[in-house]
Amino acid sequence: MSRSIEIVEVGPRDGLQSEPGVVPTAAKVEFIERLIDSGLKRVEVTSFVNPKKVPQMADAEQVLAGLRRREGVSYIGLVLNRKGYDRAVAAGCNEIGMAVVASDTFNRRNQGVGTDESVAAWLEIAREAKAAGIRATITIGASFGCPFEGEMPVGRVIEVARRVAEGSPYEIAFADTIGVGVPAQVAEIFGRVREALPGVRLRAHFHNTRNTGLANAYAAVEAGVATLDSSCGGIGGCPFAPAATGNIPTEDLVYLLSRSGVATGVDLERLIATGEWLQQALGRPVPGMLVKAGSFPKPSSQAA
Ligand code: ZN
Repeated sequence: MSRSIEIVEVGPRDGLQSEPGVVPTAAKVEFIERLIDSGLKRVEVTSFVNPKKVPQMADAEQVLAGLRRREGVSYIGLVLNRKGYDRAVAAGCNEIGMAVVASDTFNRRNQGVGTDESVAAWLEIAREAKAAGIRATITIGASFGCPFEGEMPVGRVIEVARRVAEGSPYEIAFADTIGVGVPAQVAEIFGRVREALPGVRLRAHFHNTRNTGLANAYAAVEAGVATLDSSCGGIGGCPFAPAATGNIPTEDLVYLLSRSGVATGVDLERLIATGEWLQQALGRPVPGMLVKAGSFPKPSSQAA
């Protein structure tokens, strides 16, 4: 099992996009700066999508313009098509994340086109990004189940993975968009992906909708995944996935991993403080447990 795991913080995008109200740009910028201060090196800062469909992300360009650029940090913009890619590059993202959905029905609901068309758009974007020297990653949504089509055959997930792999992505992420996965499924999917696509860097994205998110994350680490997505405070969802609540909380994940001897490079106390700040900024409690319970053992400064 890997002794270190990289975390992609998705709270500013996956988290804030499902907020009922629009969070002010200045608060988003402060949130991202605090996350980076706590040691997170890859942050999904926004998405470049239709502002009519996702009004919470309408200030994508302004968020990028407000950030202090730091060496060694990936500022990831999520895109769904070529238009979004062009906006993200113009705004200064140094990493692009694109999503396609394993389920054709879900892909149509989310992106207005079928999976095949999204894969074709990804392959074009991947070429452009390579030429421009921008890191490009691809996420396969609904890999663990679909709200419209039900169970997702592993063969279908592998087929989509093989096709997106033709774009030579930095990594391929497999997302449990609606939080239905269980650890046995995680082991099966990543085991079969590793067989089908040896050497490809793997990433996992879990939602905690049915309280299996952290168990799935641990199973993914055991299955050889290099990178896990999570959101500070466990905020998050998908406006197009019914009842898709909360990503796995970054603080809870860091606690689980560090106490298990898996390094993350994240300062847990600073991250918990950011979760507390986030509760104030949103004006409501966040789902994550460490923000409520605190770490253990207590840091030595507080032990006396
Ligand atoms: Zn998500």
